[in-house]
Amino acid sequence: MDLNDSPAEAAFRAEARAFLAAHAPAHKLDIYDDDFDEDALLAQSRAFQRVLNEHGWAAVLWPKQYGGRGCGPIEQIIWNQELGRAGIGESVFVVGIGMAGPTIIAHGSEAQKQRYLGPMLRGDEIWCQLFSEPGAGSDLAALATRAVRDGEDWIVSGQKVWCSGGHYSDFGILLTRTDPAAPKHKGITYFLVDMKTPGIEVRPLRQMNGGAHFSEVFLNEVRVPDSARLGPENHGWSAAMTTLLNERMAIGGIDRMFSLEKLLEHARAHRGEMDAAARDELARVYVWSRALEMLNARVITKLGRGMIPAAESSVMKLAIARIVSRSSELALRVQGPDGLGRKGYWQNQWLFAPALHIAGGTDEIQKNIAAERVLGLPREAEPFRDLPFEKLPRG
Ligand SMILES: Cc1cc2nc3c(=O)[nH]c(=O)nc-3n(C[C@H](O)[C@H](O)[C@H](O)COP(=O)(O)OP(=O)(O)OC[C@H]3O[C@@H](n4cnc5c(N)ncnc54)[C@H](O)[C@@H]3O)c2cc1C
Repeated sequence: MDLNDSPAEAAFRAEARAFLAAHAPAHKLDIYDDDFDEDALLAQSRAFQRVLNEHGWAAVLWPKQYGGRGCGPIEQIIWNQELGRAGIGESVFVVGIGMAGPTIIAHGSEAQKQRYLGPMLRGDEIWCQLFSEPGAGSDLAALATRAVRDGEDWIVSGQKVWCSGGHYSDFGILLTRTDPAAPKHKGITYFLVDMKTPGIEVRPLRQMNGGAHFSEVFLNEVRVPDSARLGPENHGWSAAMTTLLNERMAIGGIDRMFSLEKLLEHARAHRGEMDAAARDELARVYVWSRALEMLNARVITKLGRGMIPAAESSVMKLAIARIVSRSSELALRVQGPDGLGRKGYWQNQWLFAPALHIAGGTDEIQKNIAAERVLGLPREAEPFRDLPFEKLPRG
């Protein structure tokens, strides 16, 4: 494992760092700030996205022919690290540029590429992901939202949930069931849907930190043109896999969710309250976060040697969620009862931490992956995989 950047990686990092030093917004609005103003955040995000695009940083992984930087996953990881270092949190464009864009590039028609990719890069249109449903999350292929052909259109009815940014998005990537007689993975069709289409009702969900990051989305006989279909009818699962693979790359690692420096600063400021148990916990979080850095270096080394990291990303995801939970708990503990009444960075981290154990694959799913691919345990049984969707037992 190589812990240092290669000369090419170091040059890329220096370029990214210099660009961010010159162009990152001075006062960064964050969706998790206690005085979070959504309109201001959207305006700042759009303005910064335009700057990124003008300087060729809008989409590090996209091929140059579509307006991207044409880089590989190592550069994407370095770029994410540098964004974290510059204090820039997750972008409202993450679903568009990180997930929808690469899927359209891989599976879309020329007309779809022409229509959607440019406005995504420029920050003109925001995208959301309409995948999860009340009965389909970890088992995404169990989705039940129906799309039925009607001439040149499709009529879509169903309910989606946990749609991040749904209430301010212009377009959504949507998975629907088009052949209930086929096994669950085989009767799915993928659409690119305009969120302003009549019949789409978006209801924001209020969270315990006061924000409304997600929405429920109800689709009531929504008429979607066949030209909005991405890839062949009933073969949407393969495009969905492209989206999910890109999701893992797009969602930044530890650098954008946790700062060891901030935790150490906090511990120093509360030195008097750091009893033996708190010091022990601080040491534990410190060791975990350094171990995570090593794991990250291992992923970069593997990618640099042309290998595909296997279960490392699952182990990293588990560790990040645990570090954010335990560090925010520790930070609040040393603030004492006073901390409970306050609003601030650590309170927000603590209230948001449970989401990290669920989003992008729950802890249990990551453990299953690690058990099968690292420990070589038997694969989880899937007795219903080949059964027609309409014959699946429903709980
Ligand atoms: C912050 C955040 C943002 C999100 N954004 C979006 C979005 O924009 N668009 C979107 O479509 N979705 C989004 N989601 C939804 C997310 O993808 C799902 O919550 C996730 O896949 C889990 O699905 P679920 O909530 O239905 O839980 P379920 O799958 O119902 O799981 C319930 C419990 O059962 C456990 N479990 C399930 N299957 C297994 C198994 N095989 N083995 C062991 N345990 C199991 C789970 O670990 C969990 O503890 C978001 C979620 C969060 C938290």
